Amino acid sequence: MKNDIVVLIGAANSGKGTLCKRLCDGYDFKRLGISDILRKYNVPIPENGLVKDEVVIPLMKNETDRLINEGYKILLDGFPRTVAQANYLFEKHFPILKFIETYTSLEERIKRAANRRVCEKCGETYTEDDFKPPKQKGICDKCGGKLIMRQDDKEENVIARDRDYMKTRNEIVEVFTLNDIKGLTIDTTKPYDIASVYEFLMS
Ligand SMILES: [Zn+2]
Repeated sequence: MKNDIVVLIGAANSGKGTLCKRLCDGYDFKRLGISDILRKYNVPIPENGLVKDEVVIPLMKNETDRLINEGYKILLDGFPRTVAQANYLFEKHFPILKFIETYTSLEERIKRAANRRVCEKCGETYTEDDFKPPKQKGICDKCGGKLIMRQDDKEENVIARDRDYMKTRNEIVEVFTLNDIKGLTIDTTKPYDIASVYEFLMS
């Protein structure tokens, strides 16, 4: 099997979603998010929000094998979050190709989060600025639901999650380096050329 999995790391609101979309729209990539896997297999999420690795890893293996067999390359989003999880990727022989980190300053991420509104009914996201405003302020274009600010997007929660991410970021990158996996950091506050990102992934 070829190494077809690209691992995405980066703090919340650092532009991972946009990068995923550009790679999936333009190339043979599919995004595989851990929360989507848990939903698909109806895995109950414990109160602390952390599903055990023994549960997640076999499901992730099923899904990555399935997508690779279908001819896709995978953008793995939401895993690893710990050093132990990073090590599992190699112990369980996931075919890792590269990793990409999206980077945006904390200040900018706080701004992006403060600007986001989510439909409480269907989950569609909008912005308060001109990037993607709803047609009518506070109302979802798709379903007419009320637009709210998520708890996760409150400044104190963005800061808390940043602290969590930074705690393990260097150690996770070190696991990749020790396993000879090359990585690329993309500053998403500036325009970047998606073709050269793809070229790096395939090199
Ligand atoms: Zn809606």
